[in-house]
Amino acid sequence: MVSFTRCHFDASICFMSSNSAFSIASTLFRKEVLELHAYHVQDSSGYIKLDAMENPHPLPPELRAEIAETVATAAINRYPDPVATTLKKKIRDVSGLQAGMDVLLGNGSDELIQLLAMAVNKPGATLMSAEPSFVMYRMISTFAGMRYVGVPLKKDFSLDLPATLLAIKREKPALVFLAYPNNPTGNLFSSDDIIKIIEAAKGLVVVDEAYYAFAQDSFIPYLTHYPNLLVMRTFSKLGMAGLRLGFLAGSTLWLDQLEKLRLPYNVGVLPQLVAEKLLDHHDVLLRQAKQIKLDRASLYRLLSEMPGVYVYPSEANFLLFKVAGASEIYTGLKQRGVLIKSFVGGHPMLKDCLRVTVGSHEENEKFIAALRETIIQFA
Ligand code: PMP
Repeated sequence: MVSFTRCHFDASICFMSSNSAFSIASTLFRKEVLELHAYHVQDSSGYIKLDAMENPHPLPPELRAEIAETVATAAINRYPDPVATTLKKKIRDVSGLQAGMDVLLGNGSDELIQLLAMAVNKPGATLMSAEPSFVMYRMISTFAGMRYVGVPLKKDFSLDLPATLLAIKREKPALVFLAYPNNPTGNLFSSDDIIKIIEAAKGLVVVDEAYYAFAQDSFIPYLTHYPNLLVMRTFSKLGMAGLRLGFLAGSTLWLDQLEKLRLPYNVGVLPQLVAEKLLDHHDVLLRQAKQIKLDRASLYRLLSEMPGVYVYPSEANFLLFKVAGASEIYTGLKQRGVLIKSFVGGHPMLKDCLRVTVGSHEENEKFIAALRETIIQFA
């Protein structure tokens, strides 16, 4: 039995010690929440930031000025358009959605993963993904209280189709997430394999195209063929990470149901207006993505020429590489002012793996120089 003598959940009048607060939390909170590790975001201030797959390129000055004007006149005293009519239309147009298909907007695509999990989370429902992949699939299923099944990828990070089909038959997942291209491995799974998975699954299959701008392929054209398919995208990697905007594309039959779970006004006035403006200049963002792809090729070549480094092919805006002593290399890079992502202590298939976002030309050069020095230091 928990007793609150003087604490009314107001920090200023709360006299509980942190120990007693913890013991109250452990009584009140679900076991899954207590056992969860928070999604860790590294403090990046002062670093060359190559850890989070952001677009490194600033917007052209004319476009920044247009955005400034839009923001200056925005009615931020009012709630946003609850259904984001204008923004949704622009998203439908730029993504080439067919008739009968619509989009559901999320405060980042993370929110959409959560919303999907909430929608299908009947007792015993299972969420399935490939492993290693985007950690939020597992995390969200855990905090939603869903069963999670991760099917290991093959050594080359391609899908293990027989194992996945077997797991689908055995586990009957309500939701399958496949990142296309995959994070953190960077590869594009075989589209034939994904189609077989969609055909075998009785539940929903969500193809997560967070990195679509850097790949050559998309499942959007398949939406009309497969009623259990949804395609999820984010604008975070295309230059709008700060806006927090993702969308789920698919049949209105699914989206109308999911819409009921979306919190009112989940996309604010400023993200709506700024994203609309940016989508009017979609060509600018696509040109930046094209530049990132060119820079990815140079970075890949430089990394592959480095002794002791194995770099994986990538269709995304980052490269995964394996290097002995990854932990020391990561720290050495950090000491030289470069922040990337380490998978040390993470999934066993990512042993000795580090992931670097493709930055600007200058950032990539600094990263390569810092890596060279660090490798020599630890040789
Ligand atoms: N899906 C994948 C595969 C990702 O890598 C990420 C972010 N790293 C997301 C979804 C979430 O993106 P956001 O919440 O920024 O839209």
